[in-house]
Amino acid sequence: MSRPRTTGAVDSRCPACAAPVITQWVGQVAALRATVDLTPLTPEQQATVREPNRLVWCLYQGGPHTPPRLRWATPPHPPDCGHPHVTEHRCITEPTTLF
Ligand SMILES: [Zn+2]
Ligand SMILES: [Zn+2]
Repeated sequence: MSRPRTTGAVDSRCPACAAPVITQWVGQVAALRATVDLTPLTPEQQATVREPNRLVWCLYQGGPHTPPRLRWATPPHPPDCGHPHVTEHRCITEPTTLF
């Protein structure tokens, strides 16, 4: 039996600016907490936004009933792998220090 139930992966909101974001722990050994915007980026946009402190993530969706999962999108990961690529969320206003 299955009930419609979200795991909290997609319906999070930024506590500072209330933008829809995904927050997930990425990685299995040294997990990194990533909060990303939901807007997919083109390869050109990925090249523009990529900074040492701002990562680009691959939003991997394994199937229609699987919640999306963030994966590393650093090279050699192709920028046009077919899954949406998103980047770290930044508030429009100057962000306060979180954690
Ligand atoms: Zn990808
Ligand atoms: Zn925000």
